[in-house]
Amino acid sequence: ATMPPLLAAIANGGRRGVLVKSAVAMEALGRTGVVAFDKTGTLTEGRPHLESVTPLGGLDEDAVLALAAAAERPSEHPLAAAIVQAAHRRGLPVAEATGFSSVPGRGVRATVGGTDVVVGSPAVLDGVPEVATLEAGGATVVAVIADGRPAGLLALVDRLRPDAAGTVTRLTELTGTAPVLLTGDNAAAAQRVADAVGITDVRAGLLPDAKAAAVRELQAAGRRVLLVGDGVNDAPALATADVGVALGGRGIALAVETADVVIVRDDLTTLPNLLGLSRRARRVVV
Ligand code: ADP
Ligand code: MG
Repeated sequence: ATMPPLLAAIANGGRRGVLVKSAVAMEALGRTGVVAFDKTGTLTEGRPHLESVTPLGGLDEDAVLALAAAAERPSEHPLAAAIVQAAHRRGLPVAEATGFSSVPGRGVRATVGGTDVVVGSPAVLDGVPEVATLEAGGATVVAVIADGRPAGLLALVDRLRPDAAGTVTRLTELTGTAPVLLTGDNAAAAQRVADAVGITDVRAGLLPDAKAAAVRELQAAGRRVLLVGDGVNDAPALATADVGVALGGRGIALAVETADVVIVRDDLTTLPNLLGLSRRARRVVV
């Protein structure tokens, strides 16, 4: 007996390292009207590295970085991993933090040796010209705030996935529609990635709920939306999209719950292949 085409397509996806959770999802892939991409960890590798530390208060570079690393250590965010790693590389002590909390798309807060430390989006800082300068260079900028006062800025840069531009091109051809970039990062960093992969519709500075709202906006325009994310800070958008596709990696546990499709092998090129498979399977069914 032969397998129904959609199931055969799912099995085929499985061999390529893609977990499609249902026949409904497999079918929906082929009906995608527009593709929306998350940036960090999706179009980029999600392994940023620290480029510079800019002190803003009385602390020196190493002290700012050590505070940030201590506060970030419990976080699963790619930026947190980069900050902790940079501190280790400089041989800095990374203290045990207490009272850790995090706000998705914003940052973290913890107490480090009696100091209240916030590490996160510099949107909370007013009138710090260094933020714009660093952002203009295409970096992701993170503010370090100690006891309510700006202590410094960290500039981080992430590499593009080698397969990002090709995947964007193929998905644009398959859907016949220009894709969209949705990110919590700053506009300049977003634009740099968008230019490199050929995306012109860029929406930056979005909190997780705003990413979901952007998906609903695309749907309201009559499009079936496929969202590709890494599961970090984009769970609401993954759940809102007609098809949520999560890339394997740090956010995998949450992503497996929320997404319709999980790319287990860390490789974007399987996505256009899967869309093609779904379309061919549908043609056979109909
Ligand atoms: P993206 O949409 O590109 O995947 P996120 O939504 O994960 O980005 O994060 C958006 C912004 O929020 C980051 O650029 C950073 O400024 C801030 N942020 C989020 N989490 C953290 C964290 N753990 N440490 C520092 N900054 C963070
Ligand atoms: Mg992300």
